[in-house]
Amino acid sequence: MTTTRSKQLATYIDEAKIAATLASARTCEAKQVREILAKAREMKGLDAADMATLMENNDPELLEEMYAAARHVKNEIYGNRLVLFAPLYISNLCANECLYCAFRARNKELVRRTLNPEEIANETRILIEQGHKRVLLVSGEKYPKEGFDYVLNAIATVYSTRSGRGEIRRVNANVAPLSVEDYQRLKAAKIGTYQCFQETYHRATYAAVHVAGAKRDFDWRVTCFDRAMEAGIDDVGIGVLFGLYDWKYEVLAMKQEIEHLEDAFGVGPHTISVPRLEPAVGSALAYAPTHPVSDNDFKKIIALLRIAVPYTGIIMSTRENAATRRGTFELGVSQISAGSRSDPGGYAESNNGRNSEQFQLGDHRSLDEVVRDVASLGYTPSFCTACYRLGRTGADFMDMAKPGLIKHHCAPNALSSCMEYLLDYAKPETRKVGENLIAHELETMEPSVQKIGRRLVSEVRDDKRDMYV
Ligand code: SAM
Ligand code: SF4
Repeated sequence: MTTTRSKQLATYIDEAKIAATLASARTCEAKQVREILAKAREMKGLDAADMATLMENNDPELLEEMYAAARHVKNEIYGNRLVLFAPLYISNLCANECLYCAFRARNKELVRRTLNPEEIANETRILIEQGHKRVLLVSGEKYPKEGFDYVLNAIATVYSTRSGRGEIRRVNANVAPLSVEDYQRLKAAKIGTYQCFQETYHRATYAAVHVAGAKRDFDWRVTCFDRAMEAGIDDVGIGVLFGLYDWKYEVLAMKQEIEHLEDAFGVGPHTISVPRLEPAVGSALAYAPTHPVSDNDFKKIIALLRIAVPYTGIIMSTRENAATRRGTFELGVSQISAGSRSDPGGYAESNNGRNSEQFQLGDHRSLDEVVRDVASLGYTPSFCTACYRLGRTGADFMDMAKPGLIKHHCAPNALSSCMEYLLDYAKPETRKVGENLIAHELETMEPSVQKIGRRLVSEVRDDKRDMYV
């Protein structure tokens, strides 16, 4: 298969406009902040100027009010669900030289590893046996001799692997930008969300931290979602790597990207990821970010994204430690990874002492520990994959999400998928905490949804699996 690489320019990332918006927001009055927060509670999102104003606010009382608005939006749209997934690294070969990443081509400290189909199946089996239903397939940007088919074959391997009654029901992918033809093949492989992080939307910083390889082409990367959408992939996940450049600039640039996708394709991104730079072996920049994001600013970013783009999921990975993760759930996070490894083969060979991981993880707990923790905090751990399998993606998903309907499908589906986890994989103490949570959720649901929830949960108890609406 040939891959056509045509030049597309990301003209919608307008640095001068972002600078002007930030400059005009330097002073912010309490009254103005409260007016914006009142608007945010209507769940129609915020424009760039409003976002910039909220970024400048550091008054503790007003910050609390912003967090309360974020909690409101999160609760109205998503309820208390948290969707769980695990990354699956298939290869750490890479032809690029991203100064922050351990997989960069010239890094001699990294042990290179490309999993073969048996090893991919083995990793998948381990994840299934932990109770996972969703994986995010991740790879460096250099494929073995079969080229991009390596990734497509890996997806097929994951979907065809079984263990006991379990299987992976949704494979998302985080791989380098592709041509329209290759996106069509990725779609045909039945991926869920296509994820690609711009790292930084600031051209000069981008050039400074990507010093060799195809990834140096800023425009090819920013325009990847245009090509993915053209190929029919309508669930896309955006993100920046916080720590490379000013977070205020990056958040407004993401907003420009979102507006562009909405204007051009009628649908914004399905998810936003918020990775912060973590230490990475052999990569000095990862140990000393030039623009570190403090924990307080990190919270602000999440709350701001939640109210500015209410219908887009926010993903929190295990780069962050357990305490930081916990603090962000209520502010708007809707998906979390758990029990993760960032080295190919890391599930089968944990702690083998080899340097193969992409970056250091902050949360080392197992899936079961995370499920117990999340449930004891009152959130429903969800393994649901229904929307994607029923074709509720892209604009269809957004149409359903916008009137808050998502809560009515997702709440019962979350409970049935959680019950499936508790019965098939949970430790006894986790099962106890989880069953209490499900009982409480069923008790307090609106009557129309309660009926569906009770039916699905009792079907799972009666030994049926994969029950959803
Ligand atoms: N190689 C592909 C690419 O660069 O798009 C896809 C996979 S790459 C392994 C996934 C993401 O990991 C990158 O987009 C980057 O944002 C993130 N990453 C790289 N180095 C990191 C670090 N030191 N700390 C945190 N995240 C990092
Ligand atoms: Fe390669 Fe991606 Fe790491 Fe860059 S971020 S070195 S492209 S794996």
